[in-house]
Amino acid sequence: MNKPFVHPRVGEKAAAFLTREHKLLIGGKWVPALSGKMFETYDPGTGRAIARVAEGDAADIDLAVKAAREAFDSGPWGRITPSERGRMIWRLADLLEQNVDEFAELESLNNGKPLATARNGDVPLSADMFRYMAGWATKITGETLSISTPGTFHAFTVREPVGVVGQIIPWNAPLLMAAWKVAPALATGCTVVLKPAEQTPLTALRFGELIQEAGIPDGVVNIVTGFGPTAGAAIAAHPDIDKVGFTGSSEVGRIIVKAAAGNLKKVSLELGGKSPVIVFPDADMSVAVPGAAQAIFANSGQVCTAGSRLFAHKKVFDRIVEGIAEQAEKIRVGHGLDDGTQMGPVISQVQLERVSDYIEQGKAAGAAVATGGRRVGNEGYFIAPTILTDTTPDMSVVREEIFGPVLCAMSFDDDDLDRIAKQANDSIYGLAGSIWTRDLSVAHKMARRIRAGRIGINIHGSVDAALPTGGFKQSGWGREKGHEGLNLYTEVKSVVMSL
Ligand code: ADP
Repeated sequence: MNKPFVHPRVGEKAAAFLTREHKLLIGGKWVPALSGKMFETYDPGTGRAIARVAEGDAADIDLAVKAAREAFDSGPWGRITPSERGRMIWRLADLLEQNVDEFAELESLNNGKPLATARNGDVPLSADMFRYMAGWATKITGETLSISTPGTFHAFTVREPVGVVGQIIPWNAPLLMAAWKVAPALATGCTVVLKPAEQTPLTALRFGELIQEAGIPDGVVNIVTGFGPTAGAAIAAHPDIDKVGFTGSSEVGRIIVKAAAGNLKKVSLELGGKSPVIVFPDADMSVAVPGAAQAIFANSGQVCTAGSRLFAHKKVFDRIVEGIAEQAEKIRVGHGLDDGTQMGPVISQVQLERVSDYIEQGKAAGAAVATGGRRVGNEGYFIAPTILTDTTPDMSVVREEIFGPVLCAMSFDDDDLDRIAKQANDSIYGLAGSIWTRDLSVAHKMARRIRAGRIGINIHGSVDAALPTGGFKQSGWGREKGHEGLNLYTEVKSVVMSL
């Protein structure tokens, strides 16, 4: 790589970080990949390389697993009190906040999202996740049980950490996805091998330094950067990993399930989505229009819960589509670090081509482009916020996850909630959905009918740390976040004692 290009708006600390040699965090030490290989990471706003990162593969994963195993079996971690564990996790949140500008700049530069989104969204939300889970560290309890076996017994359950967990995360919200995975693992006393997405390794690496600064013992969190088919696959297949947590595409989710079968490790998956946004004729349009626009265009549509299928009642269909189109046309698309940018690029050339290809497929199948439908500029990977109308349930743009700023708008002319729900549920996915109405009864009846893990009423959704997230159907296994999210990281043991 030539001298890395650094955007002029990157502050001193982030710029210094970029120029550093980025190694793997294994057993509390920063080490090069055993192969000596490095790979470049890019700024999707320019397509230029910004840093070089160690390319870990199966051999490095093996070392990281050994370190995590040792930390779990015999390190100080297991003897640290829950209260002290909670304090360390809380400290991670404080450290993230103390370094918010640096994290936000690195995240914006590596992922493309607007700096303000990273600064006011991703970083504080990650800190919130650690604080939320810090509180749970002291509240992991079992139950006392009444049993009917003849005799006198004391019976109870305890929840114990599942052990060494492998965590494979995507590139759409790199720091937040790391927080969603690492925070509950630490709260429950597990040890971790984390693999960030190859497109966005930087904030996870910087976060590794905070792990050390927070006093979390060596080997408790190991971070291996590298590619999916090598480093990722090695995690999924590793015989000494007890559980794998994955967020990403449903295709890779299936590969992980197969690989995990070797040692029958526990698996949790947060996969694709094609979430419906259902607008009833009585909806408050001043809320529904910006809400539906935000649901699909936030993070350039690269959100697994994105509201990518709009179902609006015929009476309001034109109004809502025009309203969203008007908002779409006002969105300032640009480099994440440029002033006033509201929507950044998609992550890569591959993603740009994928999204563009879907738009072409939609057009070829008869969809009309209400707005957008084209690339913006020649440098970086920008796509205009797009709305497709005249879309039908059989089209690939309606059935498949595009993971870009492309909304498929459809109308319904029906009062029967079962039939409306049937349309909305006509998907292999079931991650999220939203309902827009002033009628409380319709809202709740519809919420029950949508087969998805997260429902919004007059809001598409919230990423609050307390709200469990996950999928019905092919959108995944298990729920992350909230109290529920802890269960992914514990094993229940029942103990019965004859008195
Ligand atoms: P996308 O297609 O949007 O890039 P992926 O599901 O491919 O999303 O990637 C999400 C994460 O899964 C990344 O960290 C990636 O490296 C990892 N990954 C990709 N392929 C595999 C694989 N075969 N085994 C394990 N992890 C993988």
